[in-house]
Amino acid sequence: MGVEEKGKVPLLPSGVPVGSKPHATDSTLFAQGRPKPLSLDESVAFIKNWFRAQSLNVMAYGTGCGSIELGPLGTSRFDMERFGITGGPTPRQSSVLIISGYLSVKTLKRVIRSYEQMPNPRWVVALGSCTINGGMYWDSYSTIKILDQYLPVDVYVNGCMPRPEALIAGFKDLMDMIKRGEANGYIEYQNNLDWYRANQRKVIKDWNLPEYSW
Ligand code: SF4
Repeated sequence: MGVEEKGKVPLLPSGVPVGSKPHATDSTLFAQGRPKPLSLDESVAFIKNWFRAQSLNVMAYGTGCGSIELGPLGTSRFDMERFGITGGPTPRQSSVLIISGYLSVKTLKRVIRSYEQMPNPRWVVALGSCTINGGMYWDSYSTIKILDQYLPVDVYVNGCMPRPEALIAGFKDLMDMIKRGEANGYIEYQNNLDWYRANQRKVIKDWNLPEYSW
C-alpha cells in the first residue's frame, strides 16, 4: 500500500505519520548501536587495565644501539613520565621490556632470563628494524633475526633508529591495546612455552637457565 493511499498525512517508512511525535520504538529514527552496560567482571577488568596502561614501568636495559633514544625520552623535552611511564633497574618491578635493536645470541640469553623474572602482565616493545627482520645485521653469525620467534612482541616501532617521538607513539599504541585487553603476548608465551623454548635452545647452545613457574 503506498504512503499516499493511507490518507492525507504522509507516513514515514516505519508507518508513523510525518509530524507526529517520534516514538521510542521507531527503529528508523534512532541509532541501533546503543551502549551495553558492562557486567561486574568486565567493569573490574576495564578499571584494572586502565590503571595498568597508565603506569608502565620500563626495564632499564638497552640491548642495541637503538637504546640511545631511550635517554632523551626521560629528559625534559620528551618527558615520558607525563604519560605515566617510568623506568627501573630491576625486572621484578617492571612491566615493559624494550628490545632496542639488534639482539646478539649472548644477550638473548640474559633478555630471556630478565623477561621471565618480570611479573605478569608484562609486555615487550621491539624498537628498530633489527628486531623485526634482522636489519643491517641479517648476515651476522651472532645476532637473532626475528625477535618474535624467541619472545612475544606486543608492539613494533620500526626505523633505524626510531626517534623518541616514534617510541612515544609505540607506547601510546601499547596503552590502547592494554586498555582494550589486547596486549596478551605474555599469555601467548605461557601457552606456547614449548615452541618458544625450542627456538631459544636452537640458538643458545649453552642453555643453563632456570625454569620459572608462573
Ligand atoms: S635498527 Fe639501526 S639503530 Fe637499531 S639496532 Fe639496528 S642498526 Fe642499530
